[in-house]
Amino acid sequence: MTFAFVSDFDNTITLKDFYTLIIEKYSPPGAADIYERFHRGEVSVLDLLGFVFNNIHKDRFTIMQDILSLPLDSYAADFIRWFVNEVGPFYIVSAGCSYYIEILLEKYGLLGLVTLVANPGYYHDGNIYILPNPNDDIYSPSTGVDKGKVVEGINRQADFTFFAGDSEPDYPAAIAADFAFARENNSLAELMRRNGKKFSPYSSFRSIYEKTREVLFEHSGAHSKVKLSTRYI
Ligand SMILES: [Mg+2]
Repeated sequence: MTFAFVSDFDNTITLKDFYTLIIEKYSPPGAADIYERFHRGEVSVLDLLGFVFNNIHKDRFTIMQDILSLPLDSYAADFIRWFVNEVGPFYIVSAGCSYYIEILLEKYGLLGLVTLVANPGYYHDGNIYILPNPNDDIYSPSTGVDKGKVVEGINRQADFTFFAGDSEPDYPAAIAADFAFARENNSLAELMRRNGKKFSPYSSFRSIYEKTREVLFEHSGAHSKVKLSTRYI
C-alpha cells in the first residue's frame, strides 16, 4: 500500500499567513477593507492575496527578510523529512505564491524534498506578483491552484492520501483526501464540523505525526513495506 501526504503551506506548515504578516507590518492602504470583503465572501482569496502582495512597496532585501522571519511549526520540517524518508512523497499545495514558499523551503533544507504546487510569482519593483496559469488543469479562478483537483490527481498515484490544512480554500482538498487534518479553532475545522465531515484536529505537526503513525499502522497491514522510526522526531 502506498501513502502520500499533502499539506497546505500558510498557517499549516507556517504559524502565520504571509499576507497577514504583510498587513500587520505595513498596513497597505485598502488592505483592511479587502480583508473584510474576503471574509464576507465578496472577493476571492486570489483577489485578496493579489491586492496585498501588489501593495507592499518595500525593496527586495526587506521583503526577503520578512519572508525569512515567518515562523514555521517547530515539528513541520522534521515531520516532512520523516515522511519522505520512511513513508512516501510529500506535496505542498498552496493558493499562495511559489516565490516566498521556495525561499522558506530552501531556508529549512526542504526544497528538493517536497513537490510544490503553488501559483507562480515573482518580485518586481517593491512588490510580489502572482501569476496563476488559466490553462493549467488544476486552475481555479478563485484560488489559482484548485487544491481539490490536486488531491484528486495524487489519489490516482497513491493508495492513501493524507491532507492537512487550516482554512476554507483547503476544504475541497480535505474532503478529497482519505484522511484530513484541520488546524483546531480555525475555519477549515469549523467547516468540516458543520458539514459532518470526519477530520482530526491538530495543534502542531507533533500531533499530526502521532495520528499519522496510528493511521499508517491501521492501514498498512502485515504486508506493508512502510517502516516507521522515530529517528527524526
Ligand atoms: Mg493556509
